Order: sequence, then structure tokens, then C-alpha cells
Amino acid sequence: MSEALKPCPFCGADIAQLREGSDLMWGYCLECRADGPPSLKTGGNSSAIAAWNRRAPSVTRGQIAAAIHAHCTLSRADIAQDVDGAREAADAILALFGGE
Ligand SMILES: [Zn+2]
Repeated sequence: MSEALKPCPFCGADIAQLREGSDLMWGYCLECRADGPPSLKTGGNSSAIAAWNRRAPSVTRGQIAAAIHAHCTLSRADIAQDVDGAREAADAILALFGGE
């Protein structure tokens, strides 16, 4: 069973599809028209899907919003003055991505 195309790395829409030319295949977003990166057709669908999916975000916008909401209790004006809450939110978001 082949892997599915992940949501668009640029707009988040989940309506990407594979397109192909004479020698190349690539992912294409039907919402924002982002495309690529191209893969040789000889690599098959799985190669083109893997190339597209490497660019896709591994967390959702909802997860990021939840992390900001959970770790940043400051108002927008306070964030400009006190970066601790913003740093805690950034740490939580990095943790979602597997970073440190
Ligand atoms: Zn898109």
C-alpha cells in the first residue's frame, strides 16, 4: 500500500495530487498551485509522494495554536514587553516538531 500525499506545506490544504510530465512526477496543490519537488518517473509514485511529503509540516495548525494557547497567557501588548511566554510557546512548538 502506498503512502498518501500529506497536506500542502504552503497553505495546508489537503487536496494535493500527483502530476506527471514525460520524465518527471511531482505533487501539486489544487488550492494554491504549489508544486514540486520533481522526481524521476522511474522512481514511481512513491518517490514523488515522498518528495512532496518531506516538505509537509509534521504538525497541524491546530496543534500549534493549542501550544500557543497553553503556554502563552500574555496579551499581544505584553508579548512585546515580556518574551518569556512567547519563548515557552516556541519551545512547545519546537517540541511538537521533535526539536529542542
Ligand atoms: Zn497549497
